[in-house]
This record gives sequence, C-alpha cells and structure tokens, in this order.
Amino acid sequence: MADFNPADLRIGLGTDIHELVGGRPLIIGGVEIPHFRGLLGHSDADVLAHAVADAVLSAARLGDIGKLFPDSDPAYKGADSLKLLSIVAERVRAEGFEIIDVDAVITAQQPKLSPHRQQMRENLAEALGISVDNVGVKATTSERLGFEGREEGMTAQAVALLHRCR
Ligand code: MG
Repeated sequence: MADFNPADLRIGLGTDIHELVGGRPLIIGGVEIPHFRGLLGHSDADVLAHAVADAVLSAARLGDIGKLFPDSDPAYKGADSLKLLSIVAERVRAEGFEIIDVDAVITAQQPKLSPHRQQMRENLAEALGISVDNVGVKATTSERLGFEGREEGMTAQAVALLHRCR
C-alpha cells in the first residue's frame, strides 16, 4: 500500500440469516459441523460465507451476492459458498480493490462453534486470497432470545475493509 490515501479505503457490512431445519448438513465457514439440523438454502446455505461475501461486495460498491448469484439460477443449487466467495474476491480485485481485513460474528444457540473457528478462518482466508491473520471469526449465543435463541435459525454479520488501488 504505497502512496496510501485514506480516502481509498472502503468498509462494507454484510449480514445473512438462514433457517435451521432437519435433514440438511450444517456448513459454516466451509466447515461441516456435526449437528442434528442444518441451514436451509438454495446453495449450501453457508451463512458465514454469505455475510462475508456481502461485506466484501458492499465495500467495493458492487451490490450483493443475491445480485451476483441469483437463487433462481439452477447453477447455484447446492453451490459451495466458499467457491462463490472466491469468485467475489476475484471480482473485486478485477475492479481494482485489494481486500485488507475481514471480521465476522455468528449468532447461534448451539452447537458450540468455537472448536471450528480456526478452520473457518483458514477456509475464508483461502477463498478470499488473504492471510488467515486478516480474517476474524467469532461466535455468540443470543442468550436463548429471539429466533437464534429458539434455534430456528442462525445469523452472521461481517465487516470488510478494502483498499481501492486504482
Ligand atoms: Mg445466504
């Protein structure tokens, strides 16, 4: 980041929610987590990868993943969201942005996500093409309140910091 100009920094915020249902694998940050329910969606429903993708796209002012990968398109049925995230990263780079840092939080009552946190960081970092040191992931419960607390769904929120290089 030579000739760094703070005005070329962009932040983006992404959020995503998926419903928890029986008969689906639980995939978060590209990690398949043993659980009796999984997230429902057209793709693999990776709520964390989706929030991160939206944060990155938003920072580059390129809309959101719904626009890039419409869920009406059968090509994305059961899609690996880490692959979609790597396409997002390529796309923002092609538009002249460098992805600097990403941080995310998942709200889920159970299962315990902390044992999988490091693998999620590594998967997201690889998809984004950045260092694992530049990807933060944490998890919280909602103290049994709301839909996350009733285990009806999970939420992920993410922020991304990008630098416009040209
Ligand atoms: Mg989603």
